[in-house]
Amino acid sequence: MKLICIGRNYTDHIEELENEKPTDPVVFLKPDTAILLKKQPFFIPDFSDNIHHEVEVLVKINRVGKFIDKKFAHKYYNEIGLGIDFTARDLQQKLKEKGLPWEKAKAFDGAAVVGNWVPKDTYENLDELDFSLKKNGEEVQRGNTRLMLWKIDELIEYVSKYFTLKIGDIIFTGTPAGVGKVQAGDSLEGFIEEKQFFSIRVK
Ligand code: MG
Repeated sequence: MKLICIGRNYTDHIEELENEKPTDPVVFLKPDTAILLKKQPFFIPDFSDNIHHEVEVLVKINRVGKFIDKKFAHKYYNEIGLGIDFTARDLQQKLKEKGLPWEKAKAFDGAAVVGNWVPKDTYENLDELDFSLKKNGEEVQRGNTRLMLWKIDELIEYVSKYFTLKIGDIIFTGTPAGVGKVQAGDSLEGFIEEKQFFSIRVK
């Protein structure tokens, strides 16, 4: 399985990193080895001094598909989750300056937190989901899927032009503003509405 990640999908986050607004979604992949194992802490890798948290709504694909029209995209997922796209911001910055791919900054072991899953029909409207991240008990990120530049079904249409979607693939739908550095000893908890989807420790 693969993790398909969307970058720059929330205007407020684009502004905080002083990135240009994209005309198409920014897409990158993480391998399955990037998934942080359940109940394991996240270890800060020694190649970075600036690991950022990016909390993101996740979508789990449950049907094989290619060239999926957004009208039918809802048939390709049943579950919604929440996770973190950990990013070595210092390394990513260097790679961006040189026009190089981001994998070393985004796809390293443990760089993808995948929390619990709930059926998508838990929610009346997936384009109105409130979600947030707490660091050491204090809220550091809050977003609402209404503020996505490309909504879930549009993202599925877009990414399936390039990649065949397979059962178990996960889409990371992008992060809102408030990304920031994590340090050893931090605890991170993610929520959709009031429900906790993950709780991890940083070491
Ligand atoms: Mg991200």
